[in-house]
Amino acid sequence: MTSAELHTLAAPHPADSQESSVDSLERSRAVEPVLFVLDENPTSLGVLLSDLNRRFGNDFTVTGGSSPEEGLSKLQAMAAAGDPVALLLVDDDAMDFLACAHELHPRAKRVLLVDRDYSTTSPAVQTITLGHADYHIVRPWMDDEMMYRAMSEYLAAWTRDQDPNFELFRIIAAEGDRKIPLLRDVMTRFSMPFGFYAVQSEAGRRLLDAAGLDASRLPVVIRYDGRVMIDPGLPELARAIGVHVSNDVDTCDVAIIGAGPAGLTAAVYAASEGLETVMLELAVSGGQAGSSPMIRNYPGFPHGIDGGSLMERTCEQAWLMGAHIVFAQEAVGLECEGDDRIVRLRDGTQVCARAVVIATGVDWRRLGVPRLEALIGAGVFYGAAMSESRAMQDQNVFVIGAGNSAGQAALHLAKYAATVTLLARGKNLATSMSSYLVRAIAASPIVTVRLRTEVIDGGGGDALEYVQLANRANGSVQELPADALFIMIGGEPHTQWLPSEIARDSGGYVLTGREILQQPAVQWRPGRDPFPLETSMPGVFAAGDVRHGSIARVASAVGDGSTAVRLVHEYLCEHQAVPAVQESP
Ligand SMILES: Cc1cc2nc3c(=O)[nH]c(=O)nc-3n(C[C@H](O)[C@H](O)[C@H](O)COP(=O)(O)OP(=O)(O)OC[C@H]3O[C@@H](n4cnc5c(N)ncnc54)[C@H](O)[C@@H]3O)c2cc1C
Repeated sequence: MTSAELHTLAAPHPADSQESSVDSLERSRAVEPVLFVLDENPTSLGVLLSDLNRRFGNDFTVTGGSSPEEGLSKLQAMAAAGDPVALLLVDDDAMDFLACAHELHPRAKRVLLVDRDYSTTSPAVQTITLGHADYHIVRPWMDDEMMYRAMSEYLAAWTRDQDPNFELFRIIAAEGDRKIPLLRDVMTRFSMPFGFYAVQSEAGRRLLDAAGLDASRLPVVIRYDGRVMIDPGLPELARAIGVHVSNDVDTCDVAIIGAGPAGLTAAVYAASEGLETVMLELAVSGGQAGSSPMIRNYPGFPHGIDGGSLMERTCEQAWLMGAHIVFAQEAVGLECEGDDRIVRLRDGTQVCARAVVIATGVDWRRLGVPRLEALIGAGVFYGAAMSESRAMQDQNVFVIGAGNSAGQAALHLAKYAATVTLLARGKNLATSMSSYLVRAIAASPIVTVRLRTEVIDGGGGDALEYVQLANRANGSVQELPADALFIMIGGEPHTQWLPSEIARDSGGYVLTGREILQQPAVQWRPGRDPFPLETSMPGVFAAGDVRHGSIARVASAVGDGSTAVRLVHEYLCEHQAVPAVQESP
């Protein structure tokens, strides 16, 4: 059968939906999500189905087909009946089938069955890179447990994408309320299952009635135990989730500022190595990495990992190692008093530390279009705003940026949106984006790239309705309807809060190591060379994106975080009393 014929088969035929070839037993069980296997070898199909059924049969309907025609016919019936398909497990030479099956069930995770072949020509390499499959399983597998472990992970990823069965928090808000992105972001970063209820909806009204509230003050957040919060700020939300928002530790060995990958890793290592560790974060954990829908280049995760999960695990690890973690608490000042380093906090308190690690990362650079800035949170977002992706269902979405983060965001949003337009100022993406992303974008039917294009204006009533684009190649200006705009045009370091004693480059990035010796304004007095990540204030280190010369990757931030702790040890061991650095007159 040709690929065109398969596509014809895949198109839903509503009239056929009543008459499916799926037997009645399968139909009656199909309310459970489906785990679907296509294997043209009937013996191997039988073995796979029975193995999978043994482990997953209680929660999933395990079924399959031994030919693409049979498979598509069954999947088509499921699509027509609205039965959810969680997983498509398909031989790697059945890519046409997989494409058609995925058209019918776009939310299903796609798993390739591949032969053991670690060459770059293995079909899995290209297929997964181009986003035509999510995972693979190598056959033969050594034991069933290995296969079960992998499948459980893939099914868990599918489950995470679904609406939760149990809601820890219920949010009642007016559509378009600008606080919704913050609420969603916090809930998503802490993996809190939550439901969103429009105040105009029957369910939303019922929830407000039950709480004895009217709709005069929104949003309302109701916790599973009935605790009600009206228009909560970040500290109140964080407290309700169960994390510290005020610091009750006056002194410590090391204070770490910022809970992105660099800060969290520093906290894991510092606490695990016996240092009394306080970590302060102005928002909630994860930093930029926490907003990344899929990090594919972090070692140890061959199919990638969503940044939120990676950061949440690291945060739990830091906590279990004994780090004292404080969220919604911004560091606003840093001073040197003899051997003490004093970190001043937004709430007026302070922490006295023997050493400090600055891991405050970067903030997104602003577009500077006033009408769009006014719509932040109402269709305009800085960063990937991963938590918004489900809300992008069937929308027309624009992404500005030419870096890896913009590329990833465009591909992730393409899973939900009707159209995604990636806007870049340059002549091509290849100079700034990894080739695997460039190829995946070129292969996506949903993502369109507009090069040499800038957003010069845009607007709407209460929410974004249009963007105005200028084509720098031919000078034309075009206005297009837009439901959402994600802006990812580089960053500025979070260093405005630092004292002038901490030397920085012209972009505000913190200078470290021997770089500081080349600064005429800095007098380095400790009588030794600065440690590699040490700033011009002895005993204060910088890690991750905030550091001049950082290569802005999760793995390098993680590396910096662990290295900084090693250097903190050296500083604490070798250094007894260091005179403060002074600026030259
Ligand atoms: C959407 C997206 C996708 C990405 N994808 C990838 C990828 O696939 N692979 C990859 O390697 N890299 C990727 N990156 C880059 C990567 O996430 C960053 O390089 C990395 O997060 C930097 O880590 P960091 O800890 O140095 O800083 P950040 O992640 O920026 O974290 C800094 C933290 O410090 C906090 N903070 C700031 N100021 C203060 C203050 N005064 N007091 C207290 N806390 C403060 C911030 O709130 C933040 O939580 C991506 C980035 C984005 C945005």
